[in-house]
Amino acid sequence: MPPADRKVPVFSFDGVSVSFGETTVLRDLDLQIPGWGITVVVGPSGSGKSTLVRLCDRLIDPTSGVIRFRGTDLRSLDVLEVRRKIGLVFQRPAVFSGSTGDNLSISGCTDPARHREVLAAVGLDGEELLLREAAALSGGEAQRMCLARTLLVGPEVLVTDEPTASLDHRSARILEGLAKDAARSGTPVLWVTHDIAQMRRLADHCVVLAEGRVIATGSPQQVLDSPDPAVQAVLHIEDHDDQAASWPDPDSPAADQD
Ligand code: ADP
Ligand code: MG
Repeated sequence: MPPADRKVPVFSFDGVSVSFGETTVLRDLDLQIPGWGITVVVGPSGSGKSTLVRLCDRLIDPTSGVIRFRGTDLRSLDVLEVRRKIGLVFQRPAVFSGSTGDNLSISGCTDPARHREVLAAVGLDGEELLLREAAALSGGEAQRMCLARTLLVGPEVLVTDEPTASLDHRSARILEGLAKDAARSGTPVLWVTHDIAQMRRLADHCVVLAEGRVIATGSPQQVLDSPDPAVQAVLHIEDHDDQAASWPDPDSPAADQD
């Protein structure tokens, strides 16, 4: 990406609200996601993080307000084009039947040489894995395969919704490293988590959500140092949650990891 593009926010939210019936899930969001580095969106369960991700990919549209992708109203862009430019990785690896190669071909690229390249980029051995049934991959391998599939499309931004929440600690760290690689090579990353320790490790920029509102933005240090009791409550509660978390077995198949 040319350096100039780094200055343009990859997403900007202007007065964005989302309601489902009577329930307002996001309230009047004014937010810019920078065009470089890793932006970590953190907030407790139910604060609206997944709704934010779904807006970015036009899985839903706002009830009011405007979302811009690199300055252009998302709704004025072709939705399939938007989905090619915005690479999504979800909490649970989306593994389809067939081999790893079949799964990667869903990206539209069926070239085994490219498949091996992109698997190598996520630290997986293509020679060994391409013919293997994707359903037999471990949770960590499956999530890396999903990231490889997303990268094959050549997205302009990576948007991930708690991608390590169902992974063991080691696989989670590998995924974090891959997000850092992507950001370093010029692809901005929007990374959603409820894990404050992960926010500290990854974030160039932070957004703190609570009850559908943005209650803080800034560097990790700025949000951690916020005197606002609401911000401290989110950061403290989530830190406490992390310590209680137990990690699933790294080698069990993805299907077993929920
Ligand atoms: P998070 O990802 O931070 O846990 P979500 O964005 O998934 O939060 O959800 C925020 C709130 O919106 C929750 O209370 C959830 O129940 C509600 N919600 C999400 N999607 C819908 C929907 N399609 N219909 C009604 N309520 C929804
Ligand atoms: Mg969520």
